[in-house]
Amino acid sequence: MRALSILGSTGSVGASTLDVVRRNPDAFRVEALTARRRVTELAEQCAEFRPTLAVVADPNSAGQLREELRKRGLSTAAASGVDGLARAATLPEADTVVAAIVGSAGLLPTLAAAEAAKRVLLANKESAVMAGGLLMEAVGRNGATLIPIDSEHNAIFQCLPSAGVVADAGVDRILLTASGGPFLDMAPEELADVTPEQACAHPNWDMGRKISVDSATMMNKGLEIIEACRLFGVEPERVQVVVHPQSIIHSLVQYRDGSVLAQLGNPDMRTPIAHALAWPERIESGAEPLDLFDVGRLDFREPDLERFPCLGLAMEAAIAGGGQPIWLNAANEIAVQAFLDGRIPFSAIAALIASVLAECRASSPGTLEEIIGADREARQKAREKLADFAI
Ligand code: NAD
Ligand code: MG
Repeated sequence: MRALSILGSTGSVGASTLDVVRRNPDAFRVEALTARRRVTELAEQCAEFRPTLAVVADPNSAGQLREELRKRGLSTAAASGVDGLARAATLPEADTVVAAIVGSAGLLPTLAAAEAAKRVLLANKESAVMAGGLLMEAVGRNGATLIPIDSEHNAIFQCLPSAGVVADAGVDRILLTASGGPFLDMAPEELADVTPEQACAHPNWDMGRKISVDSATMMNKGLEIIEACRLFGVEPERVQVVVHPQSIIHSLVQYRDGSVLAQLGNPDMRTPIAHALAWPERIESGAEPLDLFDVGRLDFREPDLERFPCLGLAMEAAIAGGGQPIWLNAANEIAVQAFLDGRIPFSAIAALIASVLAECRASSPGTLEEIIGADREARQKAREKLADFAI
Protein backbone atom coordinates (compact mmCIF):
# COMPACT_ATOMS: atom_id res chain seq x y z
CA MET A 1 0.00 0.00 0.00
CA ARG A 2 1.31 3.45 -0.93
CA ALA A 3 1.02 6.32 1.58
CA LEU A 4 0.26 9.72 0.06
CA SER A 5 0.81 13.34 0.94
CA ILE A 6 -1.37 15.45 -1.37
CA LEU A 7 -0.23 19.09 -1.60
CA GLY A 8 -3.11 21.23 -2.91
CA SER A 9 -5.79 18.64 -2.16
CA THR A 10 -8.66 21.13 -2.43
CA GLY A 11 -7.81 22.04 -6.03
CA SER A 12 -8.85 20.47 -9.29
CA VAL A 13 -5.91 18.01 -9.51
CA GLY A 14 -6.15 17.38 -5.74
CA ALA A 15 -9.83 16.46 -5.98
CA SER A 16 -9.21 14.18 -8.98
CA THR A 17 -6.40 12.48 -7.04
CA LEU A 18 -8.69 11.84 -4.07
CA ASP A 19 -11.30 10.42 -6.45
CA VAL A 20 -8.76 7.88 -7.79
CA VAL A 21 -7.77 7.04 -4.20
CA ARG A 22 -11.46 6.55 -3.30
CA ARG A 23 -11.76 3.97 -6.09
CA ASN A 24 -8.66 2.07 -4.94
CA PRO A 25 -8.92 1.89 -1.14
CA ASP A 26 -6.67 -1.16 -0.90
CA ALA A 27 -3.81 0.43 -2.85
CA PHE A 28 -3.48 3.86 -1.19
CA ARG A 29 -3.89 5.62 2.13
CA VAL A 30 -3.71 9.36 2.70
CA GLU A 31 -1.21 10.66 5.27
CA ALA A 32 -1.30 14.42 4.62
CA LEU A 33 -3.59 16.95 2.91
CA THR A 34 -2.95 20.66 2.32
CA ALA A 35 -4.91 23.72 1.15
CA ARG A 36 -4.30 27.43 0.91
CA ARG A 37 -7.29 28.59 2.99
CA ARG A 38 -10.39 26.52 2.15
CA VAL A 39 -10.44 25.12 5.67
CA THR A 40 -13.95 23.61 5.76
CA GLU A 41 -13.32 21.69 2.56
CA LEU A 42 -9.95 20.52 3.88
CA ALA A 43 -11.55 19.32 7.15
CA GLU A 44 -14.24 17.46 5.18
CA GLN A 45 -11.51 15.71 3.19
CA CYS A 46 -9.84 14.82 6.50
CA ALA A 47 -13.09 13.34 7.81
CA GLU A 48 -13.24 11.06 4.77
CA PHE A 49 -9.55 10.12 4.35
CA ARG A 50 -8.27 10.35 7.96
CA PRO A 51 -4.73 11.68 7.33
CA THR A 52 -2.13 12.11 10.06
CA LEU A 53 -1.56 15.77 9.12
CA ALA A 54 -3.60 18.63 7.63
CA VAL A 55 -1.93 21.89 6.61
CA VAL A 56 -3.39 25.24 5.74
CA ALA A 57 -0.88 27.51 3.99
CA ASP A 58 -2.50 30.71 5.27
CA PRO A 59 -1.18 31.11 8.85
CA ASN A 60 -4.28 33.14 9.82
CA SER A 61 -6.50 30.11 9.17
CA ALA A 62 -4.61 27.74 11.49
CA GLY A 63 -6.96 28.23 14.46
CA GLN A 64 -10.00 27.69 12.28
CA LEU A 65 -8.50 24.45 10.92
CA ARG A 66 -7.90 23.15 14.45
CA GLU A 67 -11.48 24.00 15.37
CA GLU A 68 -12.94 22.31 12.25
CA LEU A 69 -10.91 19.13 12.94
CA ARG A 70 -11.97 19.14 16.61
CA LYS A 71 -15.67 19.61 15.68
CA ARG A 72 -15.43 16.46 13.57
CA GLY A 73 -13.75 14.50 16.33
CA LEU A 74 -10.60 13.92 14.24
CA SER A 75 -7.14 13.16 15.62
CA THR A 76 -5.47 14.70 12.53
CA ALA A 77 -2.67 17.11 13.53
CA ALA A 78 -2.94 20.66 12.16
CA ALA A 79 -0.08 22.81 10.86
CA SER A 80 0.19 25.99 8.82
CA GLY A 81 2.40 28.23 6.72
CA VAL A 82 5.50 27.42 4.72
CA ASP A 83 6.85 25.20 7.51
CA GLY A 84 3.61 23.23 7.57
CA LEU A 85 3.81 22.65 3.81
CA ALA A 86 7.43 21.48 4.16
CA ARG A 87 6.34 19.10 6.91
CA ALA A 88 3.62 17.63 4.66
CA ALA A 89 6.12 17.29 1.79
CA THR A 90 8.64 15.36 3.92
CA LEU A 91 6.34 13.43 6.29
CA PRO A 92 8.10 10.15 7.18
CA GLU A 93 4.78 8.25 7.04
CA ALA A 94 4.28 9.15 3.35
CA ASP A 95 6.29 7.59 0.50
CA THR A 96 4.54 9.52 -2.30
CA VAL A 97 3.97 13.27 -2.63
CA VAL A 98 1.43 14.64 -5.10
CA ALA A 99 2.65 18.16 -5.97
CA ALA A 100 -0.63 19.84 -6.97
CA ILE A 101 -0.27 23.37 -5.60
CA VAL A 102 -0.71 26.02 -8.29
CA GLY A 103 2.05 28.49 -9.13
CA SER A 104 5.42 29.31 -7.60
CA ALA A 105 4.05 28.54 -4.10
CA GLY A 106 4.58 24.89 -5.04
CA LEU A 107 8.33 25.24 -5.55
CA LEU A 108 9.68 24.85 -2.00
CA PRO A 109 7.48 21.89 -0.97
CA THR A 110 8.15 20.10 -4.29
CA LEU A 111 11.91 20.52 -3.84
CA ALA A 112 11.60 19.38 -0.21
CA ALA A 113 9.82 16.20 -1.33
CA ALA A 114 12.63 15.45 -3.81
CA GLU A 115 15.26 16.08 -1.11
CA ALA A 116 13.38 13.66 1.15
CA ALA A 117 13.69 10.96 -1.58
CA LYS A 118 9.94 10.71 -2.11
CA ARG A 119 8.14 9.48 -5.15
CA VAL A 120 7.12 12.90 -6.50
CA LEU A 121 4.05 13.06 -8.74
CA LEU A 122 4.38 16.45 -10.39
CA ALA A 123 1.38 18.55 -11.46
CA ASN A 124 2.93 21.87 -10.35
CA LYS A 125 4.59 22.72 -13.68
CA GLU A 126 5.62 26.17 -12.45
CA SER A 127 8.24 24.59 -10.17
CA ALA A 128 9.76 22.73 -13.15
CA VAL A 129 9.80 25.97 -15.18
CA MET A 130 11.44 27.97 -12.38
CA ALA A 131 13.86 25.38 -11.05
CA GLY A 132 13.70 22.24 -13.19
CA GLY A 133 17.49 21.86 -13.09
CA LEU A 134 17.59 21.96 -9.30
CA LEU A 135 14.57 19.68 -9.04
CA MET A 136 15.97 16.98 -11.34
CA GLU A 137 19.36 17.24 -9.63
CA ALA A 138 17.71 16.73 -6.23
CA VAL A 139 15.74 13.77 -7.60
CA GLY A 140 18.94 12.15 -8.90
CA ARG A 141 21.09 12.89 -5.86
CA ASN A 142 18.56 11.58 -3.34
CA GLY A 143 17.29 8.60 -5.31
CA ALA A 144 13.81 10.15 -5.51
CA THR A 145 11.45 9.32 -8.40
CA LEU A 146 9.63 11.93 -10.47
CA ILE A 147 6.54 11.02 -12.48
CA PRO A 148 4.74 13.79 -14.33
CA ILE A 149 0.97 14.21 -13.89
CA ASP A 150 0.60 17.02 -16.42
CA SER A 151 -1.25 15.05 -19.10
CA GLU A 152 1.18 15.80 -21.95
CA HIS A 153 4.27 14.98 -19.91
CA ASN A 154 2.64 11.90 -18.51
CA ALA A 155 1.91 10.85 -22.11
CA ILE A 156 5.56 11.46 -23.11
CA PHE A 157 6.73 9.51 -20.06
CA GLN A 158 4.53 6.62 -21.19
CA CYS A 159 5.88 6.79 -24.76
CA LEU A 160 9.55 6.73 -23.72
CA PRO A 161 11.24 3.35 -23.34
CA SER A 162 12.62 3.74 -19.84
CA ALA A 163 11.24 5.94 -17.09
CA GLY A 164 11.21 9.23 -18.90
CA VAL A 165 14.78 9.32 -20.22
CA VAL A 166 15.33 10.71 -23.72
CA ALA A 167 19.12 10.43 -23.94
CA ASP A 168 20.29 7.56 -26.17
CA ALA A 169 16.75 6.29 -26.68
CA GLY A 170 16.77 7.22 -30.36
CA VAL A 171 14.33 10.07 -29.84
CA ASP A 172 14.14 12.61 -32.64
CA ARG A 173 11.43 14.99 -31.41
CA ILE A 174 8.73 15.40 -28.82
CA LEU A 175 5.36 16.41 -30.22
CA LEU A 176 3.47 18.31 -27.54
CA THR A 177 -0.25 18.50 -28.24
CA ALA A 178 -2.39 21.53 -27.35
CA SER A 179 -6.18 21.88 -27.44
CA GLY A 180 -5.85 25.55 -28.39
CA GLY A 181 -8.22 26.49 -25.54
CA PRO A 182 -11.55 28.31 -25.72
CA PHE A 183 -10.36 31.01 -28.15
CA LEU A 184 -8.85 28.87 -30.89
CA ASP A 185 -11.29 30.10 -33.54
CA MET A 186 -12.52 33.40 -32.11
CA ALA A 187 -12.28 36.47 -34.35
CA PRO A 188 -9.16 38.49 -33.43
CA GLU A 189 -11.18 41.69 -32.77
CA GLU A 190 -13.33 39.86 -30.17
CA LEU A 191 -10.29 38.39 -28.43
CA ALA A 192 -9.12 41.66 -26.84
CA ASP A 193 -12.17 41.97 -24.55
CA VAL A 194 -12.92 38.43 -23.45
CA THR A 195 -13.92 38.06 -19.78
CA PRO A 196 -12.38 35.81 -17.11
CA GLU A 197 -15.52 33.65 -17.27
CA GLN A 198 -15.04 33.10 -21.01
CA ALA A 199 -11.34 32.40 -20.51
CA CYS A 200 -12.05 29.83 -17.79
CA ALA A 201 -14.63 27.93 -19.85
CA HIS A 202 -12.28 25.37 -21.40
CA PRO A 203 -13.87 23.18 -24.09
CA ASN A 204 -12.25 19.87 -22.99
CA TRP A 205 -10.79 20.18 -19.47
CA ASP A 206 -12.23 21.35 -16.14
CA MET A 207 -9.29 22.99 -14.32
CA GLY A 208 -8.33 25.66 -11.76
CA ARG A 209 -8.66 29.30 -12.86
CA LYS A 210 -4.95 30.08 -13.30
CA ILE A 211 -4.22 27.17 -15.64
CA SER A 212 -7.51 27.81 -17.46
CA VAL A 213 -6.36 31.35 -18.33
CA ASP A 214 -2.95 29.93 -19.27
CA SER A 215 -4.72 27.57 -21.67
CA ALA A 216 -6.71 30.45 -23.16
CA THR A 217 -3.50 32.45 -23.85
CA MET A 218 -1.60 29.24 -24.71
CA MET A 219 1.02 30.27 -22.14
CA ASN A 220 0.19 26.88 -20.66
CA LYS A 221 1.75 25.22 -23.72
CA GLY A 222 4.72 27.55 -23.49
CA LEU A 223 5.30 26.59 -19.85
CA GLU A 224 4.90 22.95 -20.91
CA ILE A 225 7.66 23.27 -23.53
CA ILE A 226 10.02 24.38 -20.76
CA GLU A 227 8.66 21.67 -18.42
CA ALA A 228 9.35 19.02 -21.10
CA CYS A 229 12.90 20.28 -21.62
CA ARG A 230 13.59 20.13 -17.88
CA LEU A 231 11.95 16.78 -17.14
CA PHE A 232 13.25 14.89 -20.17
CA GLY A 233 16.54 16.70 -20.82
CA VAL A 234 15.79 17.83 -24.39
CA GLU A 235 16.54 21.14 -26.11
CA PRO A 236 13.56 23.40 -26.90
CA GLU A 237 14.26 23.04 -30.62
CA ARG A 238 13.30 19.37 -30.35
CA VAL A 239 9.86 20.07 -28.85
CA GLN A 240 7.16 20.86 -31.39
CA VAL A 241 3.70 22.14 -30.44
CA VAL A 242 0.84 20.52 -32.38
CA VAL A 243 -2.64 21.98 -31.98
CA HIS A 244 -5.10 19.10 -31.64
CA PRO A 245 -8.54 20.47 -30.69
CA GLN A 246 -10.09 17.14 -29.59
CA SER A 247 -7.51 16.53 -26.79
CA ILE A 248 -7.55 12.78 -27.40
CA ILE A 249 -3.84 12.37 -28.19
CA HIS A 250 -2.07 13.74 -25.11
CA SER A 251 1.38 13.94 -26.78
CA LEU A 252 3.75 11.90 -28.96
CA VAL A 253 7.38 10.85 -29.20
CA GLN A 254 8.95 10.66 -32.65
CA TYR A 255 11.90 8.25 -33.02
CA ARG A 256 14.86 8.27 -35.36
CA ASP A 257 13.53 5.26 -37.32
CA GLY A 258 10.29 7.06 -38.21
CA SER A 259 8.16 5.46 -35.50
CA VAL A 260 5.86 7.83 -33.64
CA LEU A 261 4.37 6.66 -30.34
CA ALA A 262 1.33 8.39 -28.88
CA GLN A 263 -0.74 8.08 -25.73
CA LEU A 264 -4.50 8.48 -26.22
CA GLY A 265 -7.48 8.72 -23.91
CA ASN A 266 -10.49 10.83 -23.07
CA PRO A 267 -9.50 14.19 -21.60
CA ASP A 268 -9.79 13.29 -17.90
CA MET A 269 -6.96 14.08 -15.46
CA ARG A 270 -7.78 10.93 -13.51
CA THR A 271 -6.00 8.91 -16.23
CA PRO A 272 -2.52 10.50 -15.86
CA ILE A 273 -3.03 10.72 -12.08
CA ALA A 274 -3.89 7.01 -11.84
CA HIS A 275 -0.95 6.15 -14.09
CA ALA A 276 1.48 8.11 -11.91
CA LEU A 277 0.00 6.79 -8.65
CA ALA A 278 0.25 3.15 -9.68
CA TRP A 279 3.29 3.17 -12.02
CA PRO A 280 4.55 0.70 -13.15
CA GLU A 281 1.22 -0.99 -12.47
CA ARG A 282 -2.21 0.00 -13.78
CA ILE A 283 -5.37 0.73 -11.78
CA GLU A 284 -8.96 1.92 -12.35
CA SER A 285 -9.19 5.70 -12.71
CA GLY A 286 -12.90 6.29 -13.23
CA ALA A 287 -12.26 7.80 -16.69
CA GLU A 288 -14.64 6.78 -19.48
CA PRO A 289 -13.00 4.29 -21.86
CA LEU A 290 -12.06 5.85 -25.20
CA ASP A 291 -14.47 5.08 -28.05
CA LEU A 292 -12.75 5.93 -31.33
CA PHE A 293 -16.02 5.66 -33.29
CA ASP A 294 -17.47 8.32 -31.00
CA VAL A 295 -14.41 10.52 -31.54
CA GLY A 296 -14.65 10.00 -35.31
CA ARG A 297 -11.71 12.18 -36.34
CA LEU A 298 -8.50 13.69 -35.01
CA ASP A 299 -7.40 17.11 -36.33
CA PHE A 300 -4.00 18.79 -36.21
CA ARG A 301 -2.92 22.36 -36.92
CA GLU A 302 0.13 24.54 -36.53
CA PRO A 303 -0.05 27.00 -33.63
CA ASP A 304 -0.88 30.61 -34.57
CA LEU A 305 1.74 32.74 -32.83
CA GLU A 306 0.03 36.00 -33.84
CA ARG A 307 -3.18 35.02 -32.12
CA PHE A 308 -1.29 33.53 -29.15
CA PRO A 309 1.73 35.82 -28.52
CA CYS A 310 2.29 34.21 -25.08
CA LEU A 311 3.33 30.99 -26.80
CA GLY A 312 5.95 32.85 -28.83
CA LEU A 313 7.26 34.63 -25.72
CA ALA A 314 7.62 31.29 -23.94
CA MET A 315 9.41 29.70 -26.93
CA GLU A 316 11.90 32.57 -26.95
CA ALA A 317 12.41 32.30 -23.18
CA ALA A 318 12.91 28.53 -23.48
CA ILE A 319 15.65 29.04 -26.08
CA ALA A 320 17.27 31.98 -24.26
CA GLY A 321 17.35 30.05 -20.96
CA GLY A 322 19.08 31.64 -17.95
CA GLY A 323 16.71 33.84 -15.97
CA GLN A 324 14.18 34.19 -18.81
CA PRO A 325 11.90 31.24 -17.95
CA ILE A 326 11.77 32.40 -14.31
CA TRP A 327 10.87 35.95 -15.36
CA LEU A 328 8.31 34.64 -17.87
CA ASN A 329 6.61 32.52 -15.21
CA ALA A 330 6.63 35.29 -12.58
CA ALA A 331 5.29 37.97 -14.95
CA ASN A 332 2.64 35.54 -16.15
CA GLU A 333 1.44 34.79 -12.62
CA ILE A 334 1.04 38.52 -11.89
CA ALA A 335 -0.63 39.21 -15.25
CA VAL A 336 -3.09 36.30 -14.96
CA GLN A 337 -4.13 37.29 -11.43
CA ALA A 338 -4.62 40.90 -12.55
CA PHE A 339 -6.78 39.69 -15.46
CA LEU A 340 -8.84 37.44 -13.15
CA ASP A 341 -9.29 40.41 -10.79
CA GLY A 342 -10.62 42.55 -13.64
CA ARG A 343 -7.67 44.94 -13.54
CA ILE A 344 -6.21 44.37 -17.03
CA PRO A 345 -7.78 43.17 -20.29
CA PHE A 346 -7.01 39.76 -21.78
CA SER A 347 -4.78 41.21 -24.50
CA ALA A 348 -2.63 42.94 -21.85
CA ILE A 349 -1.45 39.61 -20.42
CA ALA A 350 1.02 39.06 -23.27
CA ALA A 351 1.88 42.76 -23.52
CA LEU A 352 2.74 42.98 -19.83
CA ILE A 353 4.89 39.83 -19.93
CA ALA A 354 6.75 41.08 -23.03
CA SER A 355 7.42 44.40 -21.36
CA VAL A 356 8.78 42.70 -18.21
CA LEU A 357 10.94 40.27 -20.20
CA ALA A 358 12.46 43.18 -22.12
CA GLU A 359 14.08 44.24 -18.83
CA CYS A 360 15.50 40.81 -17.96
CA ARG A 361 19.30 41.07 -17.98
CA ALA A 362 21.43 38.11 -19.06
CA SER A 363 22.02 35.95 -15.99
CA SER A 364 21.97 32.30 -15.04
CA PRO A 365 20.30 31.85 -11.67
CA GLY A 366 21.30 28.40 -10.51
CA THR A 367 20.96 28.24 -6.74
CA LEU A 368 17.60 28.31 -4.99
CA GLU A 369 18.40 31.74 -3.55
CA GLU A 370 19.21 33.11 -7.02
CA ILE A 371 16.04 31.60 -8.47
CA ILE A 372 13.86 33.04 -5.73
CA GLY A 373 15.63 36.39 -6.15
CA ALA A 374 14.95 36.43 -9.91
CA ASP A 375 11.30 35.47 -9.30
CA ARG A 376 10.91 38.30 -6.79
CA GLU A 377 12.54 40.89 -9.04
CA ALA A 378 10.35 39.95 -12.02
CA ARG A 379 7.17 40.05 -9.89
CA GLN A 380 8.12 43.51 -8.62
CA LYS A 381 8.67 44.75 -12.20
CA ALA A 382 5.36 43.24 -13.31
CA ARG A 383 3.46 44.87 -10.41
CA GLU A 384 5.04 48.26 -11.19
CA LYS A 385 3.89 47.99 -14.80
CA LEU A 386 0.30 46.92 -14.08
CA ALA A 387 -0.93 50.52 -14.08
CA ASP A 388 0.34 51.00 -17.67
CA PHE A 389 -1.98 48.22 -18.83
CA ALA A 390 -5.00 48.89 -16.57
CA ILE A 391 -8.52 48.73 -17.98
P1 NAD B 1 -6.43 24.82 -8.41
O1 NAD B 1 -6.43 26.29 -8.36
O2 NAD B 1 -7.71 24.11 -8.69
O3 NAD B 1 -5.86 24.24 -7.02
C1 NAD B 1 -4.69 24.71 -6.46
C2 NAD B 1 -4.42 24.08 -5.10
O4 NAD B 1 -3.26 24.71 -4.56
C3 NAD B 1 -5.55 24.28 -4.08
O5 NAD B 1 -5.61 23.19 -3.21
C4 NAD B 1 -5.09 25.53 -3.32
O6 NAD B 1 -5.60 25.54 -2.00
C5 NAD B 1 -3.59 25.34 -3.31
N1 NAD B 1 -2.88 26.61 -3.26
C6 NAD B 1 -3.08 27.70 -4.04
N2 NAD B 1 -2.23 28.69 -3.71
C7 NAD B 1 -1.47 28.22 -2.68
C8 NAD B 1 -0.43 28.78 -1.89
N3 NAD B 1 -0.01 30.04 -2.08
N4 NAD B 1 0.13 28.00 -0.95
C9 NAD B 1 -0.28 26.74 -0.74
N5 NAD B 1 -1.29 26.16 -1.45
C10 NAD B 1 -1.87 26.89 -2.41
O7 NAD B 1 -5.31 24.39 -9.45
P2 NAD B 1 -5.23 23.07 -10.36
O8 NAD B 1 -5.97 23.30 -11.60
O9 NAD B 1 -5.55 21.88 -9.54
O10 NAD B 1 -3.68 23.07 -10.74
C11 NAD B 1 -2.67 22.70 -9.81
C12 NAD B 1 -1.35 22.56 -10.55
O11 NAD B 1 -1.45 21.47 -11.47
C13 NAD B 1 -0.97 23.79 -11.38
O12 NAD B 1 0.41 23.96 -11.35
C14 NAD B 1 -1.42 23.41 -12.78
O13 NAD B 1 -0.65 24.04 -13.78
C15 NAD B 1 -1.18 21.91 -12.78
N6 NAD B 1 -2.03 21.16 -13.71
C16 NAD B 1 -3.38 21.19 -13.56
C17 NAD B 1 -4.18 20.46 -14.43
C18 NAD B 1 -5.69 20.44 -14.28
O14 NAD B 1 -6.36 19.74 -15.01
N7 NAD B 1 -6.28 21.17 -13.36
C19 NAD B 1 -3.60 19.76 -15.49
C20 NAD B 1 -2.21 19.76 -15.61
C21 NAD B 1 -1.43 20.46 -14.71
MG1 MG C 1 -1.02 19.92 -19.62
